[in-house]
Amino acid sequence: MVLLFNKESSDKALATKNKILHDDEFGDIEIRRVRGMCMRIKIQPNGKMIAQLPRLIPLREVTKFLDQSRERLRQSLQSMPARKTYKNGDTIGKSHHLIIQEGEQENTRLKKLDIVVNITSKTTPSAQDRLVKDGIAKALREEAKAYLPRRLAFLADKHNFSYNQLRFMHAKSRWGSCSSRGTISLNIMLMTMPNELIDYVLLHELNHTKHMDHSKAFWSDLEKIYPDAKIHKKTLQKFSPYL
Ligand SMILES: [Zn+2]
Repeated sequence: MVLLFNKESSDKALATKNKILHDDEFGDIEIRRVRGMCMRIKIQPNGKMIAQLPRLIPLREVTKFLDQSRERLRQSLQSMPARKTYKNGDTIGKSHHLIIQEGEQENTRLKKLDIVVNITSKTTPSAQDRLVKDGIAKALREEAKAYLPRRLAFLADKHNFSYNQLRFMHAKSRWGSCSSRGTISLNIMLMTMPNELIDYVLLHELNHTKHMDHSKAFWSDLEKIYPDAKIHKKTLQKFSPYL
């Protein structure tokens, strides 16, 4: 059964605004009005669903489409990696360890290679989650700063690329990017990935200093220097830079 919030609103009124559809099985689905002619339901890496609905198609079509897509969506959700949870003793990134301990006050600090998260008897699960993720982000940023600049410089030198500068970021949907001015941005979450996937992202972004698109020429040049590029591209799609 599918129910709409704002049942009384007409399709006309809804034609431009984003709405939320509540589904008993899948929870809240955001409806985005799009320009194209193609209706689709996408699942984001965090499990959130987004329905893209062309502006000219009435809202009720989403519910029909959702029912037709139910089995496919169920399978997609099942094949997604489980939501990340972190526990005491986990290895984080290449060399850090997570220590969660109860004490007098809540805080997070890095102590050499330990991410020490202090919680109290009153810390709620969501507060603990935030403390843990803050600590992990700090540790991964340190690892990224220690490893990625020299790896990027090494690969650029080896394959004759030049770039302007390197920045670090923590975007939720991108592992890296390259601006037209040659600034390469790398996600600190790369430090949670195997080294061959890190190299793939670095070479992918370096290759954008020569090709600003994903044309055939981009891929054929990338495969010349990294023959497994397309295999790594597929593997990387199974992961998300969510913490
Ligand atoms: Zn790219």
